[in-house]
Amino acid sequence: MNAPTDSLPDAGATPPSGADGDALASSLVLAARRVRERAYAPYSGFAVGAAVVDEQGRIHVGCNVENAAYPQGLCAEAGALAALVASGGRRVLAAAVVGASHAADRPVMPCGGCRQRLREFAGPSMAIWLADEHRVLGHRTLDQLLPEGFGPADLGRAGPAT
Ligand SMILES: [Zn+2]
Repeated sequence: MNAPTDSLPDAGATPPSGADGDALASSLVLAARRVRERAYAPYSGFAVGAAVVDEQGRIHVGCNVENAAYPQGLCAEAGALAALVASGGRRVLAAAVVGASHAADRPVMPCGGCRQRLREFAGPSMAIWLADEHRVLGHRTLDQLLPEGFGPADLGRAGPAT
């Protein structure tokens, strides 16, 4: 794996493809489904799970954590990224988000804030798999979700600090 750099098209993050990619996507979706069961969402009842794989192939997970003071709630993706950083990871190579949308066949998408959070650790072609309890509903690249996003390179950094 090359050193992370934001100046390369994919910043060292290659979306999953072929059999390996399918297996990785399955692992990420499964991990996100499992952690979603632990979501703390007593107010919305809207449970979300997220999983990210780092540059060492390790999967980190997070679930949403609501709070009686509503704005203090945290998204599942934020938890997964915190776990990645806490364990020494610095890149997201692929991600999965699992939730149950109220709109038929529409996957739960990362919120705007989490798209930016993911951007800190991932290149534009990083794949985000979207699923519910039963089905994988598709995937998007980060660039599709956050086109022309602001990132470390805009502050003169090659990528996330290591
Ligand atoms: Zn979010």
